[in-house]
Amino acid sequence: MAEPKREAELLPEDVDTDDCLTSYTYIYSPDLLKDRVAFITGGGSGIGLRIAEIFMRHGCDTVIASRNLDKLNEAAKKLSAVSGRRCLPLCIDVRQPDSIMAAVDETLKEFGCIDILINNAAGNFLCPATSLSFNAFKTVLDIDTMGTFNTSKVVYEKWFKDHGGNIVNISATLGYRGQALQVHAGSAKAANDAMTKHLAVEWGPSGVRVNAVAPGPISGTEGYRRLGGSRREAADAFQSIPLQRAGNKTEMAHCALFLASRASSYTTGAILVADGGAWLTSANDVSMLLGIASSKSAKL
Ligand code: NAP
Repeated sequence: MAEPKREAELLPEDVDTDDCLTSYTYIYSPDLLKDRVAFITGGGSGIGLRIAEIFMRHGCDTVIASRNLDKLNEAAKKLSAVSGRRCLPLCIDVRQPDSIMAAVDETLKEFGCIDILINNAAGNFLCPATSLSFNAFKTVLDIDTMGTFNTSKVVYEKWFKDHGGNIVNISATLGYRGQALQVHAGSAKAANDAMTKHLAVEWGPSGVRVNAVAPGPISGTEGYRRLGGSRREAADAFQSIPLQRAGNKTEMAHCALFLASRASSYTTGAILVADGGAWLTSANDVSMLLGIASSKSAKL
């Protein structure tokens, strides 16, 4: 009898850069999102880009929206080439409702509908609370929390209110135990988790589901690089994670795909923690994290 495969051998493919996958093995039906339209904030890099790619490989057209249009144009070309689906790059700042309204109008003009909203845009960095300026704290809340509310409200009022839809917020586990050096992002994402539930309650009767994915440390992302992901300290830190490793972007995209699709048709107001069990067991040690942050910034 064949040996059962270890979980590590069953990991979905990923690449560490902001490029598309060189190969992809389907887990879900390839037509799971056939002819759907997804609006993905921050879809030009990191986890958001991989969500766009996996959705497109499942038949979805996408809008990727953030501030840097050059980056978005380049990403959109790669995404369409690998999937054969349409990808519309649009410039928005999630802090500016007018820019979101214009982008949603453009999306409806180009595609005729929006089925899925992924609130993924965020700003983050490591910083002790005492060194964090008033403005830096506010900026992270403006992008992560106000940005999620602004985009959800615009998409709801312009389309979901009358047609239903599906919102997936990309959260984090930072606030669960008060992660050191992350008061800004942890506070912002905690507010977003509350928002996920409030909007699930208020918008459920309109046929809108609202859920969240809370990633742990995810390789091949800016956040992971800033945490010194490939350094030895971080490698040691993985030993304290029950699954003994970082997650990858494709794994996060599969969680978003589950929540954005009919695979989760009776799920709303849920926060899907996808962190290998990290928040349950990992160190929350200010001096260790300060060491990683300062040795990393010394190299910049
Ligand atoms: P990333 O590549 O830096 O993605 C963030 C995206 O947000 C960028 O594409 C950026 O594009 C966009 N963005 C930033 N400010 C914006 C604004 N004001 N308006 C519109 N777009 C804006 O980082 P990532 O690691 O993939 O993070 C993606 C999500 O996962 C975030 O919500 C993050 O909190 C969450 N997360 C990540 C990890 C991890 O290990 N990486 C762990 C937990 C949670 P522009 O610069 O073009 O605007």
